Amino acid sequence: MRQQATAAGGIALALDYVPVLFHLLFMAVSIDTLGKAIRHHMFVVATCRRCERQARFLASDLGGVYGHGRDPRSLPFRCTVCDSRDCRVTLMEPPFDRTPETIVWRPVKIRG
Ligand SMILES: [Zn+2]
Repeated sequence: MRQQATAAGGIALALDYVPVLFHLLFMAVSIDTLGKAIRHHMFVVATCRRCERQARFLASDLGGVYGHGRDPRSLPFRCTVCDSRDCRVTLMEPPFDRTPETIVWRPVKIRG
């Protein structure tokens, strides 16, 4: 009975919990700038509070756009689905870098 989480629904649920788990793990190491996150090869995960959609960014991609001294939690994430700017930002290390379903977004500057 060990493989009960392999159904598609189980994976969707598991994804919800992963960022929280890693956020707790890395509370000890205070990552308050993109530069620190880059040194730890971390991902910045933005979760829309309205529709729970998630986007993952490489800290190094974001650092190239916003600078290494920027606090990742202050970045202007915007949900592309419901256009909400109310996003929860968490950081995670990539133990999942071999997971084929992982989509990594690139920062894009939007005019206006
Ligand atoms: Zn949304």
